Amino acid sequence: MILIVAEHTAGKLAKSTLEMVTAARESGREGPVTLLVLGQNVAAVAAEAAAVADQVLVADLPALAAYNAEVWAAATTQIAQEGEASVVMIGGSRSGREYAPRVAVKLDAPYLEDAIKLSSNGAALQAQRYTFLARVTETVEADGTVVVTVKPGSFAPAAPAATPGEQYDVELDLPAPRVQVTGRSVEKSSRVALTEADVIVTGGRGVGNPENFARYVEGLADNIGAGVGATRAVVDAGWRPYAEQVGQTGKTVQPKAYIALGVSGAVQHLSGMGKSKNIIAINKDAEAPIFKVADYGIVGDINEIVPALIEASRK
Ligand SMILES: Cc1cc2nc3c(=O)[nH]c(=O)nc-3n(C[C@H](O)[C@H](O)[C@H](O)COP(=O)(O)OP(=O)(O)OC[C@H]3O[C@@H](n4cnc5c(N)ncnc54)[C@H](O)[C@@H]3O)c2cc1C
Repeated sequence: MILIVAEHTAGKLAKSTLEMVTAARESGREGPVTLLVLGQNVAAVAAEAAAVADQVLVADLPALAAYNAEVWAAATTQIAQEGEASVVMIGGSRSGREYAPRVAVKLDAPYLEDAIKLSSNGAALQAQRYTFLARVTETVEADGTVVVTVKPGSFAPAAPAATPGEQYDVELDLPAPRVQVTGRSVEKSSRVALTEADVIVTGGRGVGNPENFARYVEGLADNIGAGVGATRAVVDAGWRPYAEQVGQTGKTVQPKAYIALGVSGAVQHLSGMGKSKNIIAINKDAEAPIFKVADYGIVGDINEIVPALIEASRK
């Protein structure tokens, strides 16, 4: 089987999980696409998982109420061994990248990190990944059981199948975690998360200053229910938090529409949003590289165009 560890938050399956289902189906490896749901009170997540997977394994336990790398690695390894998984797929999130290498060590399996494309070459699983500041895309491959992390935003999310997959409860023998989370403060935002958003409005240095960013980028995003992104230049200048950075050293996104305001389109930015379905760019420089990837472009001054867009979107 192809084992995917489902990522979920607040009782909902994350888009990254749907993307991993597509990655599994494109991998060329045989066997049922199996989603492993770890957590507590995860019935709703398991039902969502069943809509896209061939089968769902559910571990609904108090010991899994909160993520812990040791516990997640132990649970994943156990299920991978019992199910003789040929691929173990884990999200390329902060937590996924923390426990995936542990799973690889426990399984004595090769580890392919940050896959943006998967296929098979005979018995070997092939993955593509970015390297050298995303200027180079390299292909790596490994035989046997392989542990892979999948870069979020690199695959299209899987659509529900005609028939939902079967759900099975699984027993786990879990270790007592040695690291405890003793405090947590959560940043509250009513805005849709960047990696979940269907539409993203991103602001670059061309927006001018933090006040304009709030007025233009957040103003437009809030009117149309979009997520907010930023370039590294904007994040480095301290106008916006790192969590909003799109690009090679930020988030990879693949929304239905990506609206870039005052973004030049540097290669490191493009590597994080180049697969968006529709790219709409507004930039005063007709030669800006963003126009090479844009589906729709407006050459003009943000200060004149965006207020009109906000006004139109309000109506
Ligand atoms: C190792 C490494 C990793 C990196 N990782 C990332 C990353 O993850 N994400 C990322 O974004 N960058 C990343 N970068 C930085 C990247 O190379 C660029 O410097 C950055 O993306 C540029 O940001 P920008 O488009 O906002 O700014 P600029 O390149 O300065 O572009 C501003 C644009 O705004 C336009 N403009 C100016 N005024 C107006 C106006 N009034 N109306 C309309 N248009 C206007 C200009 O014509 C220009 O095209 C990385 C760089 C390195 C070396």
